[in-house]
Amino acid sequence: MRKKQCFVVAANWKMFKSPLESEKFLNEFMSFQKDFSNKVQNLFFVPAMNLAAVATILKGTPILWGAQNIHYESEGAFTGENSPKVLKEMGAQICLIGHSERRTLFFETDELCAKKVKAAQGLGLAPMICVGESLSERKSGKTFQIITEQLRNSLKLFDPKKKFYLAYEPVWAIGTGQVATSKEAQEAHLILRNELKDIMGEQGADATPILYGGSVKPENAQELSDQDQIDGFLIGGASLKIESLVQIAKVKI
Ligand code: 13P
Repeated sequence: MRKKQCFVVAANWKMFKSPLESEKFLNEFMSFQKDFSNKVQNLFFVPAMNLAAVATILKGTPILWGAQNIHYESEGAFTGENSPKVLKEMGAQICLIGHSERRTLFFETDELCAKKVKAAQGLGLAPMICVGESLSERKSGKTFQIITEQLRNSLKLFDPKKKFYLAYEPVWAIGTGQVATSKEAQEAHLILRNELKDIMGEQGADATPILYGGSVKPENAQELSDQDQIDGFLIGGASLKIESLVQIAKVKI
């Protein structure tokens, strides 16, 4: 059985919460910090417009935070985009790259993700790369092919010596209430871990946190976290409510 170094509980707030709501939520959330195992690493991906407020609230705390998307250039004529250089300057440690909503709604490709990964790592931000198959891909038995291809292509320009995170989020499980079974998630994580071993060696692959995302709730968190390949969760809907996020962060590691 694989020994986990830590367990990451990452909230992806998507386009929810204002700066004031974020402040209220985080202050309340931090009052529960003492109830979490010291192996649990809490992390928040907040909407770009809330980053400044969140930077102030979380400064000096053990909670990590970052953006849900970045551009691959530090600056330039890119109307509406988020500069990774500014994100770093604000104090963020991490950013999400290639979330399935970015891939499907905003047409992000693996090639674009690879450039973003390079930009983030170059600036000292840890990228969290998301991969996952659609329902039709799963039904036609293509899951492992799809997720390993996404992983390899998104890591084309990455530096294996620098920190990064990986999130497996089956598209059919996102926001649907239909969670992957612990067996399905463990299987996919194992495939991804083996692919990582091939790309960056055994030690690096073992040290890379692989998170599961897709309808994680307090009711299914413990069973999923008991799987030795699951190093954390990337949580959408259930991360918007204090009670459910706190309950998930109380998982026994
Ligand atoms: P849900 O937890 O709402 O299914 O969302 C998962 C997700 O997309 C996290 O990035």
